[in-house]
Amino acid sequence: MTELAVKQCETSGPDARRLIAENAIRQQIARCNSQAGKYSGPVLVMSEERLRQNVRGFMAAMPRVRPHFAVKANPDAEILRIFKEAGTYFEIASIAELDAMIELGVDIGTIFYSNPIKSPASIKHAAAHGVVWFAVDTPEEIIKIAAIKQDAKLYLRIEVSNEGSAWPLAGKFGASAKGVDALIEMASKQAMQIAGVTFHVGSQCTNINNWVEGIRSAKCLFEKLHDHGFSPELLNLGGGYPLQFTGDEPTIDEIALEINQALLGIPDSIQVMAEPGRYFVGSAGCLISQVVGLATRDDQRWLYLDTGVYGGLMELAEGFPSIMVSQRTGETEIWTVAGPTCDSIDVLGKYSLPRNTEVEDLIFMPNLGAYCTPCASTFNGFPAPRMTMVG
Ligand SMILES: *Cc1c(COP(=O)(O)O)cnc(C)c1O
Repeated sequence: MTELAVKQCETSGPDARRLIAENAIRQQIARCNSQAGKYSGPVLVMSEERLRQNVRGFMAAMPRVRPHFAVKANPDAEILRIFKEAGTYFEIASIAELDAMIELGVDIGTIFYSNPIKSPASIKHAAAHGVVWFAVDTPEEIIKIAAIKQDAKLYLRIEVSNEGSAWPLAGKFGASAKGVDALIEMASKQAMQIAGVTFHVGSQCTNINNWVEGIRSAKCLFEKLHDHGFSPELLNLGGGYPLQFTGDEPTIDEIALEINQALLGIPDSIQVMAEPGRYFVGSAGCLISQVVGLATRDDQRWLYLDTGVYGGLMELAEGFPSIMVSQRTGETEIWTVAGPTCDSIDVLGKYSLPRNTEVEDLIFMPNLGAYCTPCASTFNGFPAPRMTMVG
């Protein structure tokens, strides 16, 4: 086989996907093992090289799509610095996230304020610092922005299917077809410009069709906006690009194939961007936690870790895909894994771990670079996981 043919075999199909998933997870576990000797409390081991790889992979797969990292996925200053250096732009949702951008020295005009609901104080703060782009999905929000920044560039967040997303967002945000009409009417009345369209397919989305449908809806909306005298210049594909846990998830190249195809229908005058959060940071971070206690209650084996729902593992408790690997090898059994706090909701779920697990064993949890440390608290006096950057 030629080199190109080999490469094609390696990058598509279920076997190739499984291999990619396994390799990524093996690398994360290896990085954790190299840090295990220094254990002094829960720690997220973050790989700088993997962060850069994720950015490169995304950009190479979708050359027309400018990535704006969704800061909420992990606002760590060093991560933001690495992404800026790697050539990504940013998406924010709050004053604190904007302040992180100012600190980082980002050109504020390139920042997208994609939270559809913003307090007047945060709109003022953003406008004062030069933010131009503001997402809206209700007429009420247009009135709020009009009073503070009349020359803002609004982009409409439309509703799209979140089917096949591990963490759906539909319902809370996104204008329906009727809602869009109300937005157009209000923007005209307030003499505000609608400059773009956005959607969010939900997080860890494994259904590529949601992006394709979103692009199709945006294309129709562009025509409608033109009919109403607006000049749209932006298509924002939002976030949702998934991590590989089992290899059943589509790879970024597989998603790109269909997104790139769908974008052929979008004129060159439209700037296309996306807001990857989880995809950029998730696979770069593996959490190390330690077993603090074991119990047998009514024949059920319980395993208590030094971090849990309040230590940044809320998604696990909600049934989000997750993997736990023990430092110890051997025959496994099903354990009910829980966090260290006294709260009954601090239970993570059932995991297959070694039968001979002992207190002080280390447990590695790959793919937790996103939405773990940023969500952690010190409830009940247990330390939130630290982050450590490795090569
Ligand atoms: C959270 C969020 C993202 C990032 O989503 P991921 O699933 O982490 O990629 C992007 N855009 C908006 C508006 C968001 O709220």
